[in-house]
Amino acid sequence: YGLGAVLSATKASAGLPQTGDEYDFYRSFPGFQEFCESQGDKLLHCMSQIMQHHGCRSHIRDRNKLTGVEERFDLVVDSNDVILERAGILLDEADGVNRSQKPIMPAGFQPPKIVVSSWNRKGSSSGSRSETFRLLHAKNVARPQLKFKEKVDNSNTPFVPKIFIKPNALKPLPSYFSNKQIRKERPEDLDVPAALADFIHQQRTQEHVEDMFAHPYQYELDHLTIAESLLSKPEPQMYKPMAETKLSFIDSLEDLVALNEKLCRLSEFAVDLEHHSYRSFLGLTCLMQISTREEDFIIDTLELRSEMYILNEAFTDPTIVKVFHGADSDIEWLQRDFGLYVVNLFDTHQASRALNLARHSLDHLLRQFCDVNSDKRYQLADWRIRPLPDEMIEYARADTHYLLYIYDSMRAQLLESNHGQPGLLQSVWNKSKDVSLKKYVKPIYTEESYLDLQRKQKRSFNTQQLTTFRLLYAWRDKLARQEDESTGYVLPTHMMIKISEELPKEPQGIIACCNPVPPLVRQQVNELHLLVQQGREMPLLKAEIAAQKKKGLTPIKKAEDTLFGPHDTSRGSESDNPQLAADEVPVKQGILFSDKDHRMDVDEQKISGLLAPARITLFQELETPDEMSLSVAQMKARRIIESFENPFRMYLPSTGAHVNKNSKFDPSSKIFEISKRWKLQSTEQQQKELEVKKKSKEEAKQQAKKLTEERTKAKQSYQESVQNITTVRQQAAESKDGGKKRPRGANEVGEVTPKPTKRQMKSTDKPQKTEPPSEESFKPFDYAQSDLKVFDGSKAKDNTQFDPNRQGQDFRKKKFPQGKKNSLSAGNKSMSYLSGKLDRGFRHNWPKR
Ligand code: AMP
Ligand code: MN
Ligand code: ZN
Repeated sequence: YGLGAVLSATKASAGLPQTGDEYDFYRSFPGFQEFCESQGDKLLHCMSQIMQHHGCRSHIRDRNKLTGVEERFDLVVDSNDVILERAGILLDEADGVNRSQKPIMPAGFQPPKIVVSSWNRKGSSSGSRSETFRLLHAKNVARPQLKFKEKVDNSNTPFVPKIFIKPNALKPLPSYFSNKQIRKERPEDLDVPAALADFIHQQRTQEHVEDMFAHPYQYELDHLTIAESLLSKPEPQMYKPMAETKLSFIDSLEDLVALNEKLCRLSEFAVDLEHHSYRSFLGLTCLMQISTREEDFIIDTLELRSEMYILNEAFTDPTIVKVFHGADSDIEWLQRDFGLYVVNLFDTHQASRALNLARHSLDHLLRQFCDVNSDKRYQLADWRIRPLPDEMIEYARADTHYLLYIYDSMRAQLLESNHGQPGLLQSVWNKSKDVSLKKYVKPIYTEESYLDLQRKQKRSFNTQQLTTFRLLYAWRDKLARQEDESTGYVLPTHMMIKISEELPKEPQGIIACCNPVPPLVRQQVNELHLLVQQGREMPLLKAEIAAQKKKGLTPIKKAEDTLFGPHDTSRGSESDNPQLAADEVPVKQGILFSDKDHRMDVDEQKISGLLAPARITLFQELETPDEMSLSVAQMKARRIIESFENPFRMYLPSTGAHVNKNSKFDPSSKIFEISKRWKLQSTEQQQKELEVKKKSKEEAKQQAKKLTEERTKAKQSYQESVQNITTVRQQAAESKDGGKKRPRGANEVGEVTPKPTKRQMKSTDKPQKTEPPSEESFKPFDYAQSDLKVFDGSKAKDNTQFDPNRQGQDFRKKKFPQGKKNSLSAGNKSMSYLSGKLDRGFRHNWPKR
């Protein structure tokens, strides 16, 4: 029943006037406006109550317009996280799973690799089969990471493209990637992860640094032109019924090579991926679905992870269209896990936006164009599970099976809706190209990362709490990298906040903050206890002590006392302030969507004992009286007011403005955050301008003559590399004869689980990675002890060479306009967790499982 209600509400909301012209038009009718406002009020009130019910902050009714819709939106996102996580916990409990009864295992210990989850028990119970599947994560799934031939690099170093051979090149692959000599020169004395050693070496020699972080196909994508035929009206080619379509499950190199060759002969194919993020730090691409006009393929990308790169031949061929739906994440996953890139992408999600359809999700397109009712039940399933249950295979297959027909139909519609002119269609090709230009950015830990997360939570912490939060954050990040788990698995954010807020004195208190207790928390509770103790030892600021004392007393304040407006509890949590409980204080709501100035229409008499009038705020500008004329008490009062800094001071005119200098350096103060954010933005701006300048310069340089030269060179270089690296055909043939090591990343994990594989190279081209295999699966770089300031986000400005956060900032820039819009539409499945939210760690926007 609940789901039905939510669905119909979602449907109804899709029918509302669209933002932009349509909405503006309707809004010119006062009746409409009033209706919107009253409904908006109701909704906000309702949301507020739900959030309060779940113990989330609900400042959604905060009347401060400057904090803006964005913050409130974040608030809703966060509350959703909390509520969904709680739902997950309750489901687990109902399921009889009590995680706290799990035996404590030593770090890195893996349970026997027998898959005994409910996934394998299908058919054993009669009745509805699909009900026997658990849709959240299955227990006891063997970790696929153990079988990877190349170990996962969770080190706190920026991502370096995996590509080492570049098919369809117009510009040769920089020698950094193809020349093994460079890697050989790498100083061996550095006890750091490979990526970092490379980086340090490149920095020292001032070479290749640009290459290391550039998009390998930037040049090809910049010079991609869409063929005439793709801009003219197509005759939609009907999909074959699924039952009559051949399905191949690909889990051997041989089949993968054959598939690649098949794809290379086509003019288009459709692609989708399935992904897992809970039991891995960076996430794992588990499955790739490919559909041609004739056949469906499902590739086991866990099995073929190190071989997937051969598909670059088809994926980067500019004459072959690759159709994806909502490829933003897929593009990043392809780079991260396989070194795959896409040249000539058509994204049906972008087409849906251009056509202004009511919803942009794949299910919507399937319903609209194919009359197929898809079932998104398995979207969040644990895709690591093997063997894959038939239901999940069928589900995955449907994600691409119809996509080429949808591609045809949408192109036709795009032309039709634009009176046969190709402009709109061209814009979709361009948008799709932008998507394929996305670069994967690894989450990088800096000394300030915790502040980003804390800001998102909008919890006000005192010095002790904030210190604890910072320490827990660092602990969690380090452990997650080390154990290759998501941070949400190590210690969910809401538990981390709870511990920071409560500062338990005993280890048992830490356990009590967590329900259920995450295995790694239980295991390391003593370490955690030490961290909390360290936090507790921090001296409190004067204002904080005062705030704590006040908590005990909470006298009823007089309305004329300007010092105690409704905001002065900013350092205590909302629940500390009984006067502000929602049902007691009448508050005008509906600020989320209104641009009118709202004043509380409140009977001031009635609440005069509780609240100061709304216009009185802590941040009120003082009429600068000359200091001499102030009495001692007045001076004191002034000091106190100054200790609460108006965070928006910097946006106000500078008339005699008075910013408390210290607050800028107090990490717990608002102005600290805001001025930091602002600085970041201006750095971003500078960088952007620099890049634009550089780009236009570069373009001027590129003469036609040079262009042809480049191309011949590229061809040569590609041919050379092909000569050096035996063709995929040969490899496949040879792989039949027996186990040859693959060229990159000979690695110990592979040896633990030996599987005869597969590729052979000439000995000259054998991997030059000469690090001795270590005992542990890997040693994360201990960033805590690093003095490499290049990895410190705050130094970004001085370092024109490289800034690990630079790419991240590119995202952040786009975050609001894109991320917000996208995730606002409930049905928009693929975009609802846009990695634009990189600053939180993109994974954590997803409901935790
Ligand atoms: P799709 O493109 O719909 O097949 O989704 C690809 C992958 O993205 C899935 O396997 C999930 O891991 C992830 N995913 C999609 N939608 C969501 C969502 N709403 N929340 C979390 N993860 C998602
Ligand atoms: Mn997808
Ligand atoms: Zn999918």
